[in-house]
Amino acid sequence: MSKKEPIRIALTLEGDVAKRFEAVKKKWGLEANTDVIRMLITQYYDQIPIERPTLEHVNLNDLGVLVKDHSLEPPQGRLIQIYFREGKARCEYDETENCRHTDFALELPEVREIFRKKGWKSK
Ligand SMILES: [Zn+2]
Repeated sequence: MSKKEPIRIALTLEGDVAKRFEAVKKKWGLEANTDVIRMLITQYYDQIPIERPTLEHVNLNDLGVLVKDHSLEPPQGRLIQIYFREGKARCEYDETENCRHTDFALELPEVREIFRKKGWKSK
């Protein structure tokens, strides 16, 4: 895992940019402003020609975490929902609690924080 400092962004949007932001947020049906930023970065990142990791964190939601697997079809990768339930992370794609997607999800700092708050042990 990367030991780099997290990037913190405080942003105030007004006028047209704020309207566009709200339009994007509504289109994607997202609740959190931060998820809009994450999705925008993920979408753009897919379009730029750089070497990328196989698995990427897309967003965190009430159900669990959304992970993108670039090794799976369709060509630009497949979104995989990892569900959190009673201290376990379950992959909807592999239908298991023990695959590379759940391993990846449980290593994410945001996920570790959720497990810590809920008093669950992440392996
Ligand atoms: Zn999996």
